[in-house]
Amino acid sequence: MKMYIIFMGPPGAGKGTQAERVAAEAKLEHLAPGDLFRQAVKQQSLLGSEVQSFMEKGELVPDEITIRVILEKLDDIGEETGVILDGFPRNYNQAVALDEALEKKNKAIDRVVYISVEQPELVRRLSSRWLCRECQSPYSSESAENPHLEGCPGCGGELYQRADDKPETVARRLEVYFKETAPLIEYYRKQNKLIEIEGEGAVVEITGRIIKALE
Ligand code: ADP
Ligand code: ZN
Repeated sequence: MKMYIIFMGPPGAGKGTQAERVAAEAKLEHLAPGDLFRQAVKQQSLLGSEVQSFMEKGELVPDEITIRVILEKLDDIGEETGVILDGFPRNYNQAVALDEALEKKNKAIDRVVYISVEQPELVRRLSSRWLCRECQSPYSSESAENPHLEGCPGCGGELYQRADDKPETVARRLEVYFKETAPLIEYYRKQNKLIEIEGEGAVVEITGRIIKALE
């Protein structure tokens, strides 16, 4: 699949997990600003120092930073490879910048996968999410497999909670999503690119639904 695909959905919809799985299966590059920014913060790079405070508050990183970083990465990937954009665009301004940049290369977004999950489920998922420091796998603190959070069941690594998964920040991230990002659903629906996927159910099942819808 040499497609340009956007993955959209509220925080907690499972967008990152699914984007990674679909990218592996369909041999596409997975490009996620959230991952790039978290890595920059961890490495204490200049970019990291620019984005950290926004992320910790649950705010969007300013467009001039995000757009520059993502368009540079798209150039690096080259035109022979398809791409899944996971978490970009997140507002109207970013969507227009992306359309313009692709148009210059005679390309366009092919499909937008919108993963929908009801709000109470989102809050529950985000507030109970823990990640492994070693292998990055997510675990729920409510899950029966790992009730005491003693360590990663996969590799034994230490589990931690993302700084922006604290309840106050979760609330703000959802607010920002509904105000800034959700309007893009209509933007892409009007372009006949939107595929809506029900995001509740088993991880593998949801991946299957997405692959089938893209074929
Ligand atoms: P989630 O989808 O669970 O909120 P992400 O990893 O996609 O998590 O994003 C984490 C944070 O990174 C966001 O809350 C925001 O601060 C920043 N970020 C990610 N993508 C964008 C974007 N397209 N524009 C601005 N900020 C972004
Ligand atoms: Zn692990």
